[in-house]
Amino acid sequence: MSVEITSRDAENTRWDFVVIGSGTAGADAAVRAAQLGLKVLLIERDRNRLGGTCVNVGCVPTKKLLYIVDHYYELSKYLVNEGLSTNMKLDIKAMFEAKDRLINQIIAWYMFRVFPSWGVKVLIGEARLESPRSIKVGDSVIEARNILIATGSRPKLPPIKGIEQGLRRGFAITSDDFFLLDSIPESVLIIGGGAIGVELGTLLYKLGSRVTIVEVMDRLLPTFPDPELGNYLAGKVMKEMYGIDIKVSTSVTEIDPDNGLVRLSNGESLKVNKVLIAVGREPNTEGLNLEGVGVEVRNGAITVDDHSRTNVPSIYAAGDVTGKYMLASVAKVQGIVAAENAASLNSRIDYSLIPMVVFSDPEIASVGTIANKDDPKYIVTKMPNIINYRVIAYNKPYGWVKIIAERVSGKIIGFHMIGPWASELVNMAAMAIRKGLTLGEVKEWVVAHPVFSELLIDALELAAGSNVYLPRR
Ligand code: FAD
Repeated sequence: MSVEITSRDAENTRWDFVVIGSGTAGADAAVRAAQLGLKVLLIERDRNRLGGTCVNVGCVPTKKLLYIVDHYYELSKYLVNEGLSTNMKLDIKAMFEAKDRLINQIIAWYMFRVFPSWGVKVLIGEARLESPRSIKVGDSVIEARNILIATGSRPKLPPIKGIEQGLRRGFAITSDDFFLLDSIPESVLIIGGGAIGVELGTLLYKLGSRVTIVEVMDRLLPTFPDPELGNYLAGKVMKEMYGIDIKVSTSVTEIDPDNGLVRLSNGESLKVNKVLIAVGREPNTEGLNLEGVGVEVRNGAITVDDHSRTNVPSIYAAGDVTGKYMLASVAKVQGIVAAENAASLNSRIDYSLIPMVVFSDPEIASVGTIANKDDPKYIVTKMPNIINYRVIAYNKPYGWVKIIAERVSGKIIGFHMIGPWASELVNMAAMAIRKGLTLGEVKEWVVAHPVFSELLIDALELAAGSNVYLPRR
């Protein structure tokens, strides 16, 4: 590949910006730095992980599989009764191959189009800091004016009896292993009811698995600010619609691969075909010699400020390795901020409004403040999605949109939604919040109809007291 160089070649160049890790944070930072005229080297330790977690085992493959599985599910559940006849068969191997083609397409886009066009060079090898301005790869020492650590994260393994044996035997798998499956297990117990557990649980259910989710906290999606979202998803959707068994305030005490059993803190023992571990991720900080060069690490993550700077002036960090949000959306901006600062700009990331999304069905999304409906300082309204014509035409009559606004100013300050395309609407809501939009302004606008994004507009109208689709209360 034309962008690839050897460590010997890399040694003979004085680089402005060397990036360790080719994931979202690293790749985006590399391109941005090159756009700003810096001489950039991107180092990735694993050729099969070019593009990092998001592209290989995260955002991209999950969305591709959800896309295929959603069509299968909608056809077999609804559309067979609405004029479509089908002898559909789901070919798991072909489905996973489609996912792999997409991943290869994205990697090729970067390696053959984006990187060469901006002059970013790529080196395959494990990087280790030698000093604040040099990196060792194999025997080569590579000099850099500035360094970005973007080494990402890996699935966290909880200290459960039998987990290592379970993983060795393939009875227990992580989200990374999920993408290597060649058949769909008949029954799966998922440890962890966060975004990844819920997303993969939805996928597995739609593929025909019997799914149980075990969550140690007292609700699904415990990191989401509005508890109603996780509770609605657990009750109305997962339990009632899908028949997924959700066990909250429960932990797994033992994984027993010999007997295909999982033991729980409530005394139950469940027989399952696979255990999927989805209890979060931990930053990749080992083997980098962070201590040797004095980079501060707190709770296993590299400490950074809003400029993506570590405590060592020539070293930046971005993405999951900073342990901040563990989202590609955040990793991208952190990386770009690091690149711009390495090019002597003064950029910073605004952590005040981070859209949070779960690609369940229906989707969940959240941004901004949450408030209690009895608090007189705020207007808190919840609009059922069933009033939207597109929603009912598309057989998605569930969920709601919650709006929080300041009572005196009318400013929109929070959006929390469960429903179709919530992942799209949340960015519109974030823009409205950022721009200080008020409820009064929105009701004067003409918007396209019938579209899913009217869910946001109609919910804002409800908060303004002018929604005309709901009966009088
Ligand atoms: P990574 O993408 O993990 O990249 C780090 C790279 O560094 C890796 O390729 C690694 O091999 C390399 N590396 C590590 N150490 C070294 C070394 N010493 N030398 C050289 N290279 C090294 N986020 C979203 O925003 N939306 C989603 O829908 C979403 N879905 C997800 C679904 C799943 C199942 C998972 C697991 C995650 C999902 N995420 C999502 C999170 C997202 O994937 C991560 O936040 C993002 O990929 C982090 O990017 P990063 O650049 O920090 O690290």
